[in-house]
Parts: sequence; C-alpha cells; structure tokens
Amino acid sequence: MTEPGKVDMEKIVSLCRRRGFIFPSSEIYGGLSSCWDYGPLGVELKRNIKQAWWRAVVQERDDMVGMDASILMHPQTWAASGHLEGFADLLVECKNCHLRWRNDDLESNNCPSCGGELTEPRLFNLMFKTFMGPVEEEASVVYLRPETAQGMFVNFQNVVNTTRKRLPFGIAQIGKAFRNEITTGNFIFRSREFEQMEIEFFVKPETDKEWFDYWLEERLNWYVKLGIKKESLRLRQHAKGELAHYARECYDIDYLFPMGWSELEGIANRGDFDLVQHASFSGKSLDYFDNDTKEHFLPYIIEPSAGVDRSVLAFLCDAYDEEPDKDEIRVLLHLHPTLAPIKVAVLPLSRREKLVEVARQIDADLRQCWMVSYDDAQSIGRRYRRQDEIGTPFCVTVDFQSLEDNQVTIRERDSMNQIRVPIAELRRTLEAKLQGESLFPPPPGGQVWKEESPA
Ligand code: ATP
Repeated sequence: MTEPGKVDMEKIVSLCRRRGFIFPSSEIYGGLSSCWDYGPLGVELKRNIKQAWWRAVVQERDDMVGMDASILMHPQTWAASGHLEGFADLLVECKNCHLRWRNDDLESNNCPSCGGELTEPRLFNLMFKTFMGPVEEEASVVYLRPETAQGMFVNFQNVVNTTRKRLPFGIAQIGKAFRNEITTGNFIFRSREFEQMEIEFFVKPETDKEWFDYWLEERLNWYVKLGIKKESLRLRQHAKGELAHYARECYDIDYLFPMGWSELEGIANRGDFDLVQHASFSGKSLDYFDNDTKEHFLPYIIEPSAGVDRSVLAFLCDAYDEEPDKDEIRVLLHLHPTLAPIKVAVLPLSRREKLVEVARQIDADLRQCWMVSYDDAQSIGRRYRRQDEIGTPFCVTVDFQSLEDNQVTIRERDSMNQIRVPIAELRRTLEAKLQGESLFPPPPGGQVWKEESPA
C-alpha cells in the first residue's frame, strides 16, 4: 500500500487523462488555464462522492434539509457578505508582461516570469463579474458566486417557514463556485471553477461550541468511513490572525496531498455574522422565534464547507497503489465500493456466440442496479488489470463451464480472491459484497480460490 503523501501527482494526472477521469478544459484549443472537464469515469466518481455526502448529511438526518440556489444572486448579497470589500488578494502586476503575482509569494522585486519591473501592490477582487440583461453598465453588474453559502443564508427564513424545522437544524447545498484565483495549480486542487458541498447548521448561540465540536468529528469521520487513511488526515486550527472576517473559530480538515498538507474542508463557527449582515442590508427581519422561551434571536451558524474537486483528488491519491506483478506492475485504485465509478465488470472468456449471449444477459441484468462495464477485448488478465486501474471492485467472468453449470466467477479487486456462484445468486451476492460484506463465505453452491497466474 502506498504510504500517505508519497503518491506522485504526475501519476495521478496521467491516470486521470489516460483512463478518462479528467481532461484539461477545451483541450483541442490548447486548454483553458485551471479549468477541468470530468470524463466518463470522473463524472461517476464525482457523482458518487456528492451522493455519499448528501446521503450522510441530508437523507440520513432528521435535522437537515437540502436546497439548490441560483449561481447569480442579487449584488447586494456580496456587499452584505463582505466579499465586495474583503474578498481580495494583494497583487503586483508586471509592467512588461502584465502577469499578476501575489505580493506575499514573491522572493524578489522583479517579475518571476520575465524579470520585468512590478507595480505597487493593489487589491484584486477574486469574484468573476458579468452583466445581467442587454446593457453592459455598472447598474447591471452581477457576480458568479464565489461560494454556495450565501444562497442558504438568504433563504434561512424561507426554509424555517416552509419546513417548520426548529433549532438546531441545517441546510445543505452542492453547487458550482467561481474564484478568479491568482495562484492556481496542483491539478484540480485549486481551479477557477469548482464545486462545493456546504452545510449551514443553525444553532442556539449558547450551544455553538458543542455543535462545532460535533461537526468537526462528524466530517472527519465521513472521509475515514469512505476509505481515506486516518494518517492522511489532520485537523488544523486557524490562528487568531488567520481567521476570516466572519469566523469566531475555524479548523481545516487537511489532507496529505502529494504537494503536502493542504485544506480539504473548512469548518467555521460564523456566529451570527451572516444573519446580522443580511438582515441589515435587506431590511428584513431574520429573527428566529423560540416557542419554548418565547424569545426572538438570531441563531449562530456552524459551517462545514467541503470541496468536491479536492475530495475527488484526495480519494484518488489515497486509493492509488502499485503492486509488483511478475515482471510488470499492477496499478490499482482501492476505491471504496460506494465511490468506485464502475461497480462490476462483465468479462466473457471468449467472443463465442453462446458465451456472449449469457454474458450480455448478465450485463443487462446488473445494469438495472449499477454502473457496469462490458469488456471482451484481450486476455482475461489484461482485462482484470484495466478494471483494477479504475477501481472496479468486482469482475464477473463467464467461461465455457458457465454454459454447463450456470455458474460464474466473481473476482475481487484488492485480494484477487475468486468465488464461483450460481448465476441466479449473482445479483444478490454482488449486492451484499458492495455493501461491504466479506467475500467469504460464498453463497450456497459456491466455492473460493485465489487468482493464480495473472496473465
Ligand atoms: P484556500 O485557503 O485553499 O484558498 P479557502 O480557505 O479559501 O481555501 P474556503 O473559502 O474555506 O476555501 O472554501 C471551502 C472549500 O472549498 C475549501 O476547503 C476547498 O475544498 C474548496 N475550494 C475553495 N477554493 C477552491 C478552489 N479555488 N479550487 C477548488 N476548491 C476550492
């Protein structure tokens, strides 16, 4: 198993490109800096991560609801949130090549790219600006949201009134966010268009500390439950001077990426900052009425804010492994079955008509339940390796004996163990295995063995 932090980013990028997880955006035009397209396997992995998150934080909880706000919001939102004023980096610009640099990243007084003279530092807002309607004028300026959070704050009263939820309760949202980042890079770690999974959890002010601690643990455990090694994760508390303008307390969940420890998710106690600001800028009361105490007050907000793309990268890095395999190397992704893009591959031993008929039938049947891949090209060993490399947990092999005994082989990715099961038991067996049941014992009529000679 590859040690935490020891995975080579180049290998991840190359695997993603080669197998269709992630491509550079608009590649035929030379790509667009720090934008990425998720290919056939990437979109499945990403969807599975989002689904697992939604299941854990919305579906399985009685104290959470979901929503999906629009990306374009009333411009006053950004005045109230502090983004218009505060969401800026101090930058210098090269007078020669006009590249901009973060002032605190520079080691000398000259442009790192061309050596040219630099301007004085000035604030550069990270929000993308555009115009709404036919006229491009100051009055029609709108922004692409730099976070999904504000959509939940401005809908707080709508959610309370329509769901009758009482404190403590939360709103969850998954969606795109845009930041005109200055220093991008490290593949999908920092891009200009990305996706967030955010929770705004509203609590009585005096209970903020206990809920903050609760969400820290809950969120950390979510990554571990989905297979990330504990040693690859850490909690890092923000120092007083580092805290964002809205935060009373903040921790990052850091992951040990190939470039070192970096933020995967931020968990902040935002106090009542956001509701105070939006009440004041909109002139609408955002008070909560407590039926028990008959008091009006503004709840405090605990915000666990995760990045979908950074999660994709962390799950890929953590799952990546290389094993000696005769004269070759077996590359495999130990992805949790819940996250694996393809759950089962159906592999007929040959293209003989009779075998194909049975294999196609199995394939069609399993597709009712999961994403399935049908592969009949090259040797069975090669086909196993192709599936290992994309993290497919199970391969089902249909051989000539299957025509006689109506049984097929299930081969497990990590252990390479194989069991033989009746076709009639296949769907049920795979269902149990995908839910984490051990591959042993086999179902009635089945038998177990270990893959002998990977071709
Ligand atoms: P960083 O310090 O790395 O720029 P941040 O503290 O600005 O991140 P937050 O504003 O807390 O990030 O956003 C919440 C989450 O959104 C982050 O933990 C991260 O997973 C994700 N995120 C933020 N900016 C980007 C980006 N440019 N590209 C990809 N994901 C991002």
